[in-house]
Amino acid sequence: MPVWTCPCGEKRVVGTYDELREGDGYTEGMDTHRPWIDGVTFECPRCGGEMHRVQDVLDVWFDSGVAGWADLGWPSDKEQFEKWWPARFIVEAHDQTRGWFYSQLAAGVISFDRAPYDEVMMHGWVLDPKGQKMSKSKGNVIDPIEIIDQTGADSLRFYILRANAPWDDTAFQKDGPKNGRKVLNTYWNVVNFASTYMNIDGYDPDAHTFDSMRDSLRDEDLWMISRTEKMKRDATAHLEGRELHKLTRVLEEYILEDLSRWYVRLVRDRTWSEDEDAAKDKNASYFTLHYAIMSTALTLAPVCPHIAEEVYLHMGGRPGLRAYGGLAVLGRGADKGRSGVQHEAHPGYSRDNRRGETEDGQQAQMAPEVRDDMRG
Ligand SMILES: [Zn+2]
Repeated sequence: MPVWTCPCGEKRVVGTYDELREGDGYTEGMDTHRPWIDGVTFECPRCGGEMHRVQDVLDVWFDSGVAGWADLGWPSDKEQFEKWWPARFIVEAHDQTRGWFYSQLAAGVISFDRAPYDEVMMHGWVLDPKGQKMSKSKGNVIDPIEIIDQTGADSLRFYILRANAPWDDTAFQKDGPKNGRKVLNTYWNVVNFASTYMNIDGYDPDAHTFDSMRDSLRDEDLWMISRTEKMKRDATAHLEGRELHKLTRVLEEYILEDLSRWYVRLVRDRTWSEDEDAAKDKNASYFTLHYAIMSTALTLAPVCPHIAEEVYLHMGGRPGLRAYGGLAVLGRGADKGRSGVQHEAHPGYSRDNRRGETEDGQQAQMAPEVRDDMRG
């Protein structure tokens, strides 16, 4: 303990090296572990006696308890502390109730008279397929890197978050990430379909707004936009409620059913039309598809950041756009959010190379990681 005591009862708590330097027996650059630290003594300010360090060791979780502000340099640096403390959200597994949650809570209340965090999430463990704890001696450890090599990091993330509520343990099934991949692959195919035809027709997503398209939208377009709004609303509520299993299930149903099975099938004929008069109708389907794809990328981003960013940038999204700022409210926020951002368009969707780009050309621009992630 960093506490020095005198037989007369006087105590001295040392918090910094500067305070330690005042001690007898301290030498610059010395090892401040035991046993060397015990050679440092102080003169008692009350009786003039010699103060010695308390030999006992504090519960090591005390360090964890104060980590939230010690890490920010408090008390010597108050700026970082005022900016970051208390934590909005902390997350640990259920073996850490005493170690992290309780130590921090107790230390926070003792030191600052409040909890050092606003919100706690206690997550479950990933167990082997039979529900047994993974251990090297049992030989049932599943290496996440191997799974990532096989199906990609995003597929693994999607599976784990989808399988159970975050606070429940998950018995890891080897086919699980493959199912996650199926969902992402379907999304990827929709993006591929949309960007292929948008490129051929030189569709410019920045040239259209909900208001300018309103009269051209067919019933199925309005239906798709409505489904998209519902997906965003539900997914946001689940994310904010930390029900990540529900968030991923909402996304899964939206991608597989609404977007791929229904909408893309319904608009295929429209995108193939060569008729000049069909341009407006085609643009209405592109507008709807683009909106659905971008909304999905933004909603998917916390779960599958790699594919979400790749699609977002590829489809003309701008770095720095706030996730729910630009696309949250159709006809109101949609264009304000975009026009307020000063970044250049992503080269993958710039005006110059949009037309005549082949399917292979587009794929070549995808990051290798995402390409490997999505393809067999
Ligand atoms: Zn004393």
